[in-house]
Amino acid sequence: MEQELKELKQEAVTAMAVAQNVSDLNDLRVKYLGKKGTLTSLLRGMGKLSPEERPRIGQLVNEVRSELETVLESKNEELKKLELAQRLATEKIDVTLPGRIQPLGHLHPLTLTLNRIKNIFMTMGFSVEEGPEVEKDYYNFEALNLPKDHPARDMQDSFYITEDILLRTQTSPVQARTMQAHEPNSPIRMIAPGRVYRRDDYDATHSPMFTQVEGLVIDKNISFSDLKGTLELFLHQIFNENVGVRFRPSFFPFTEPSAEVDISCVMCQGKGCRVCKGTGWLEILGAGMVHPHVLEMSGYDPKKVSGFAFGLGVERVAMLAYGVDDLRLFYDNDMRFLRQF
Ligand SMILES: [Zn+2]
Repeated sequence: MEQELKELKQEAVTAMAVAQNVSDLNDLRVKYLGKKGTLTSLLRGMGKLSPEERPRIGQLVNEVRSELETVLESKNEELKKLELAQRLATEKIDVTLPGRIQPLGHLHPLTLTLNRIKNIFMTMGFSVEEGPEVEKDYYNFEALNLPKDHPARDMQDSFYITEDILLRTQTSPVQARTMQAHEPNSPIRMIAPGRVYRRDDYDATHSPMFTQVEGLVIDKNISFSDLKGTLELFLHQIFNENVGVRFRPSFFPFTEPSAEVDISCVMCQGKGCRVCKGTGWLEILGAGMVHPHVLEMSGYDPKKVSGFAFGLGVERVAMLAYGVDDLRLFYDNDMRFLRQF
């Protein structure tokens, strides 16, 4: 029995000394010191010993157990340190690797164009007003001199939510709202940019949703020459100093007189091309003197003040400014297109 213990101890110590990792060492712990381990089974055999021998052998077994535990413990520490060193070596971060570039986005061409438009008007002292896209029929049509049966409603007949609520077809409702928020007859100089919705095709030049900027100026003694001067200045700044500007008589229910405003073709400089259909001119915005009835509807007195209003499509300006020939490109979100701005 004594011999067996000696051999067992020797064998275990040797095995532990060559263990390669913590997991192997654990297996050895189970094999020699576990509940079903070699040392435990030796203990079971003590029943065969004489009563005199038992305490001595018992003590010996305990000594072997504690010696083996000490060996295990120190080997365990050694292996842990080794494994940590190996992990540190393999998981070392290579700081010389180049970093990953985070792609930076940029503003959409329509936003860029709108910002330019806003900036030009703001330098002329205009405020930028906003209003709801879901609008009351009253503000979208009636307050703008378009009663329920007016034929001009058909041209922009829109997306109705109820009988009296619709997606606005123009940003003009913001003008009526702004006038009503002011003291009657107090001066106004504002633009209203934003999305508008009309029952329309989706093709190279139309979209059921587009971006509009409308402007309104009201004060004492505002005349058509103020309208002309303001719009000429704007068009020269947004396109170029040499662009020709022409006013043609037109009709809008909310202005009188009304005008369509053209610029000389920016593609052919007025010589005539496919874009201007050979005319040398491009329609760019609509404008006119605010109809007295519209002033009255919002509590202003047309005998005391007068004003002008205008409206233009941001997509149209962006297409001409950047030379884009299909409006749908602005909404397709094709990165090959958007990266060019
Ligand atoms: Zn042209």
